[in-house]
Formats: sequence, structure tokens, C-alpha cells
Amino acid sequence: MSEIMTTPATIDPMLPQPFVVRQVIKETPDTFSLTLEPNGAGDVTRFQPGQFSMLWVFGVGELPISISGDPAEGSRLVYTVRSVGQATNALVSSGVGDGVGVRGPFGTGWPAEAARGCDVVVVAGGIGLAPLRPLIYQVLGKRNEYGRLVLLYGARSPRDVLYRKELAAWRRHRDTQVLTTVDYGGLSWGGHVGVVTTLFKYARLQPTRSVAMICGPEIMMRFVARELETQGLNRNAIYVSMERNMKCAVGFCGHCQYGPHFMCKDGPVFPYERVRPLLERYEL
Ligand SMILES: Cc1cc2nc3c(=O)[nH]c(=O)nc-3n(C[C@H](O)[C@H](O)[C@H](O)COP(=O)(O)OP(=O)(O)OC[C@H]3O[C@@H](n4cnc5c(N)ncnc54)[C@H](O)[C@@H]3O)c2cc1C
Repeated sequence: MSEIMTTPATIDPMLPQPFVVRQVIKETPDTFSLTLEPNGAGDVTRFQPGQFSMLWVFGVGELPISISGDPAEGSRLVYTVRSVGQATNALVSSGVGDGVGVRGPFGTGWPAEAARGCDVVVVAGGIGLAPLRPLIYQVLGKRNEYGRLVLLYGARSPRDVLYRKELAAWRRHRDTQVLTTVDYGGLSWGGHVGVVTTLFKYARLQPTRSVAMICGPEIMMRFVARELETQGLNRNAIYVSMERNMKCAVGFCGHCQYGPHFMCKDGPVFPYERVRPLLERYEL
């Protein structure tokens, strides 16, 4: 059911396209959203929610990052990056006007078209909200084409909550329920404390008419998928996004092979049913 969009045939998928940083927004102490605009010709900004790019940071290296902006905004690409090491640190340290090479978009997207007419249940953990944000934009932008939108989002602490203003704005849409939780609250946090699965008792789900999309640490996705099944969702209506270290992004190098799947081209979005046995194992 995943809908695949490939890089336009005229563009060599191994050749980074030149982009320029137009905006940098600090989302949390270690996470930044970068808006990139193409610095050349060609249809290089179309993508499907859930797809990723390979971002080339000159002099440092290349890394996979999900596209986190609105698919309806055709002229730019937005990425939300958490600084965890050399390449991500260099990327979030970029300034307006700096150049970045972009390959892609790559991989499978969330089943946004197939979910039309259904309730959409989005469950995100930490930076996992970034690859799901384009899907949320799409559902809210075409509100009449979808049923209810339920977003359950868990972050480590209040200061790690992404897109705070948008979460508040999404909450005001009709037929939309947005619930946020943190693992550790602290004195100033008046909201829910607990792992993201503890939000299910407040979620108003209609399991038989829902499609669920999950992104976060694998242990979180495993427990969320099990909970969704317990709530009555069909396994075939549950999708997860799997992250593995990858190099070529087009299924040549085998770096991200995981069991029978190449995470870069068969994923990162998979029907839960297909990867359930793999989710129980550590990375090979
Ligand atoms: C399809 C895909 C989409 C991604 N989307 C995003 C995104 O939207 N935003 C974002 O911040 N990050 C995203 N990542 C993760 C990002 O690619 C890694 O954090 C990055 O490659 C780390 O590079 P580094 O040089 O900064 O750190 P390194 O020094 O290479 O690694 C630092 C730490 O991160 C771990 N790590 C490195 N790569 C990965 C990885 N791919 N998955 C899990 N752990 C990793 C390492 O084991 C190490 O513990 C995505 C990864 C994939 C595969």
C-alpha cells in the first residue's frame, strides 16, 4: 500500500543537487529545522510525506535526513535535524547562504493516498515527529478527504518537545486530537508524564476505520504497534518507519540491508506486518 515516488528520471540519483540554506530555526537545544532552496534548475523539491534525502555537508560527509516540510510548498525542502555526531553537528551549524548538496527524494512514503476516507492515527516519539509532519500537513490541508486525525506524541522532557506552536495550532483544527507526553516532566510541566503508550487511554480511536503511522525508536514502535493491535486495529493498517545507517540510498551498496529488505528503497516506511519479525531483533 506504500506509494513510491522516485527521483525524476533526468536527475542522476547519485549526484547531489546544489541547494542553499535559506532559514535555520532552533526547535530545541539540540534540534534545528533548516529550509533549503535549490540553487539550480530542475524539479527537485517534489516529495511524498515519509521520504528522505541524502544531505551532503561539504567537507564532512553525507547523511540521510527525512523531509519534514509541507509537500504542498513546492519550491523548498525543510529538514529537522538533531545534532548527535559530526555530520549532524555540521549541518545544524549551517548559516543562511551556506551550500548543501541534496540527493533524492528516496524511499517509500506514508500511505497518505490509501488513507483517504479513514481516520489517521499518528504516533511519534522524539525526532520521529519530523518524518510525520508532512503527512500531518497533508491531512490538515485536505481536511475533508480524511476522517479524524489523532496525534500521540512523546518526547523525553518538556525542552525536547518539537514544533510547540504547531502542536497548539493543530489542536484547534476540527476532528483533530493532539496529545503530548514527556518521560520526565519537572516542576514547570503541567502536562502528561509517561511513555507515549500511556496516552492511548485518552485517545478517541475508531479502530476499524483507522490507519496508523508510527515513527520513533524501535522499542517504542514495537510497543505502540502492539497496543494498536490490542485496541482493535488490523495489522495491515499499521505502518512504521525503519531507520538504518545507509550510504547509497538506492539499493546498490547493501549497507542498510536488513533481512530481505533494503531499508533505503523498500523502506523506510513499511507495513508493520512485513517488518514485525525484524523489529524484534537488534541491527545486523
Ligand atoms: C531514512 C533516515 C531518515 C532519517 N531522518 C532523520 C531526521 O529527519 N532527523 C535527524 O536528526 N536524523 C535523521 N536520521 C538519522 C541521521 O541520519 C543520523 O543521526 C546521522 O546520520 C548521524 O550522523 P553523524 O555524523 O552526525 O553522527 P555519527 O557520529 O555517525 O553517529 C552519532 C550517533 O548516532 C547514531 N547513528 C548514526 N546514524 C544513525 C542512523 N541512521 N540511525 C540511528 N542512529 C544513528 C550512531 O550510532 C551514534 O550513536 C535519519 C536516518 C535515516 C536512515
